[in-house]
Amino acid sequence: MSSVVEQLRDMLGPTAVLTGEDVRCRPAHIGVADGYGAKAILRPKNTEEVATIMRLCHETGQTIVPLGGNTGMAGGAIASENDIALSLERMQDIEQIHVLGRTMIVQAGTRLQTVQERAEELGLMFPLDLGARGSATIGGNIATNAGGNKVLRYGMMREMILGLEAVLADGTILSSMNKVIKNNAGYDLKQLFIGSEGTLGIVTRAVLRLRPLCKSESTALLATDDYNHVMTLLGYLDQELAGTLSAFEVMWNDYYRLASGGGSDGKTLPVGLDYPYYILVEALGADPETDRTRFELVLSQALEKGLIVDAAIAQSGNERNNFWAIRDNIDSLLAWWPIIAFDVSLPIETIEDFVQETRAKIRNTWPDMRSVVFGHLGDSNIHFIVSVGSDEPDIRRQIEEAVYSAVAQREGSISAEHGIGLEKRAYLGYSRSESEIELMRTLKRALDPKGILNPGKVIPTP
Ligand SMILES: Cc1cc2nc3c(=O)[nH]c(=O)nc-3n(C[C@H](O)[C@H](O)[C@H](O)COP(=O)(O)OP(=O)(O)OC[C@H]3O[C@@H](n4cnc5c(N)ncnc54)[C@H](O)[C@@H]3O)c2cc1C
Repeated sequence: MSSVVEQLRDMLGPTAVLTGEDVRCRPAHIGVADGYGAKAILRPKNTEEVATIMRLCHETGQTIVPLGGNTGMAGGAIASENDIALSLERMQDIEQIHVLGRTMIVQAGTRLQTVQERAEELGLMFPLDLGARGSATIGGNIATNAGGNKVLRYGMMREMILGLEAVLADGTILSSMNKVIKNNAGYDLKQLFIGSEGTLGIVTRAVLRLRPLCKSESTALLATDDYNHVMTLLGYLDQELAGTLSAFEVMWNDYYRLASGGGSDGKTLPVGLDYPYYILVEALGADPETDRTRFELVLSQALEKGLIVDAAIAQSGNERNNFWAIRDNIDSLLAWWPIIAFDVSLPIETIEDFVQETRAKIRNTWPDMRSVVFGHLGDSNIHFIVSVGSDEPDIRRQIEEAVYSAVAQREGSISAEHGIGLEKRAYLGYSRSESEIELMRTLKRALDPKGILNPGKVIPTP
């Protein structure tokens, strides 16, 4: 009897099945150059081939790891040598665009940036945006319910998906390609797959909800001296900019210093280095002139009220990009490697207290600890990065425990937008009740009774 990999090669053809060095040369996970662990990578061309694969795997009990752009931050696409990875890299077609209905139907292997660019060519916008846009796929974005830079205004990936098609563990093709905004005809089955990190089905196609392209973009980098002012400013801008506020990204002083290079390369910084908090705000509107006037007025009033103490308003696209480049310069953290990175959500009023308490707790054991804080504060989501010179399992566990217990105490989430994957599985109980986790297990058993889809991810073993 030939192996499953050989049978799949016979069924799909040789170019659809990679093995050996063709697998190893791919990254094991984000931040690693190579060493992907699966015994084979399958590259189906269409949904029917995905279904064929799943039927055979279901029959034989072969485990499958769905693979998108492999930019996920929670280890959800990591594979072992017992697993076969299923990549959607040959399923990148944009199948249909309806300009008036503002929908786009794509195959799940399509890159996020391709979708953004195609929408823009038609005067429309797909609002999901994140640093990995050039590699991340729509299937991966759906499976992780990705967040990114405009959640404040447009919501997470969940809000941008009208319908989808998924292949279940036994090879059943579930077509739920709804195109309308309102559809209360029974259970909204697509939600099962959005954010389930490839554990309940393989997303093969999706109906994306597009929005009108905004004609104006106003961006500013602000500084403030007090965390209470950060929170008040968020409410103030949200109200005064009449719903056009699309980004409210906060950098604590330590991150701003590191990511901006502190002016060491001779470049002038948009605002000085000595403020405790920096806020990158962006508003998207329909009328460049009036939007700009309104934006400047609202910021000057914020200054008068003392909510901000310094501000730089981008005068060109270049300047805007420079502001964002500081916010997005996570490569500056390479100097601190190894790092331990957290992506957590907390009620906004508890965030500064959380940061101070957690830093103090970690510093008690590692006095030389370095850390930075930044993130999508408008969504109550921060990235908290810690470096203690080692990320050995025991050290990592102690630091995770310190961070996640402080999150749980404040009723926050241990994963704001990156998912649970392998990395946070042991801590799911810090953010979900036992009955929630048990219902997750029930769903998993119902949809994947043999446990072949992305085994060991998301749900902790009882
Ligand atoms: C520089 C950088 C910035 C980032 N910024 C953000 C950010 O702001 N917000 C944010 O949310 N994330 C961010 N991320 C994380 C990452 O880009 C997202 O999680 C993205 O959605 C993953 O897409 P992917 O195609 O790379 O998926 P992968 O990494 O390949 O997979 C992620 C998970 O989805 C599953 N999966 C993939 N494709 C499918 C499919 N078709 N069907 C079912 N399951 C599937 C995998 O098994 C895995 O569990 C960032 C990453 C980087 C490197």
